[in-house]
Amino acid sequence: MEERVERIKKQLHLAGYKLTPQRESTVRVLLENEEDHLSAEDVYLLVKEKSPEIGLATVYRTLELLTELTIVDKINFGDGVSRYDLRHEGAQHFHHHLICTICGAVDEIHENLLSDIEKTVEERWNFKIKDHRLSFHGVCHRCHDSEEQ
Ligand SMILES: [Zn+2]
Ligand SMILES: [Zn+2]
Ligand SMILES: [Zn+2]
Repeated sequence: MEERVERIKKQLHLAGYKLTPQRESTVRVLLENEEDHLSAEDVYLLVKEKSPEIGLATVYRTLELLTELTIVDKINFGDGVSRYDLRHEGAQHFHHHLICTICGAVDEIHENLLSDIEKTVEERWNFKIKDHRLSFHGVCHRCHDSEEQ
């Protein structure tokens, strides 16, 4: 945790920004809730528990800055709400999501399953892939199991 905060601090410094206490509380909330896909409002409510003086606008600006620096990715699962998702360290491309249409759970796939597709696209369309968004919509294993009972 501390190491990751340090590395994010360095990334900000390289881009000419400081990790102010407000920015740091926001970063810590994202790291502590890494498996979740929090909206700006969710992040704000969690940050506020520890830093009551912080405002929504400050949290929002920090999230936008982190997005700009590709420390987090802004995603939308089709419900109209922007969510913020930490990019995994060392990952060149964004991870994939499994979205359950019954319970709304969002699970992540961190393996790179797209190498063949990427190769085909690059060759056939002469297109250099920098990133992608991939979401699967369906029934998660939890909902699937309870359907069978
Ligand atoms: Zn994710
Ligand atoms: Zn990829
Ligand atoms: Zn489900």
